[in-house]
Amino acid sequence: TSFAHLGFDENLIGAIRKAEYTQPMPIQAQGCPVALSGRDMIGIAKTGSGKTAAFLWPLLIHIMDQRELAPGDGPVGLILAPTRELSQQIYQEAKKFGKVYNIKVVCAYGGGSMWEQIKACEEGAEIIVATPGRLIDLVKKKATNLKRVTYIVFDEADRMFDMGFEPQVRSIANHVRPDRQTLLFSATFRKKVERLARDILIDPIRVVQ
Ligand code: AMP
Repeated sequence: TSFAHLGFDENLIGAIRKAEYTQPMPIQAQGCPVALSGRDMIGIAKTGSGKTAAFLWPLLIHIMDQRELAPGDGPVGLILAPTRELSQQIYQEAKKFGKVYNIKVVCAYGGGSMWEQIKACEEGAEIIVATPGRLIDLVKKKATNLKRVTYIVFDEADRMFDMGFEPQVRSIANHVRPDRQTLLFSATFRKKVERLARDILIDPIRVVQ
């Protein structure tokens, strides 16, 4: 599979080439078509597998498809991650490729400046990459809202459980419109993750890296 086979346009392929990625990694070759089809997805993949791009590139295309259909404020894509480090890593990648379409990305994590994150949200974000607790705080403070979210990613779900984020994760899932597309990534597929997947995904396709 090449990047062109995945159906990406010239602009995105150009940015991928600039990043010096020569061919899709397996999770990308298998995951991107699923995500692009609009289906819910469970990705069993570790850090280093290329999983970030597997959910990110389809999100960029999802946003471009929605731009004219759903103008307004609040993010269209929401990416939840367990830690500041991971959210910043995803943010860097989202900025790198989102730049191609001028997609605005905001990163919000616990421990970072609330004031700066509120300001960034208010300047407009099409993608928010966040840790669960901080996202809920920002919604409570009305810095952002989840009304327009139609693509949500739970990254490293098993670690989110380990860190005690299950109530926040479930609360966020319950506050996002049910006709959304949901993607869940986890290095392991333990009972707790399986139960969460059953509760928040609809008829998902499983991709194992
Ligand atoms: P991830 O598993 O998403 O954290 O990605 C691991 C690393 O692989 C990151 O540094 C990416 O920049 C890199 N990467 C992602 N996709 C590719 C690819 N198709 N070819 C080469 N490197 C890649």
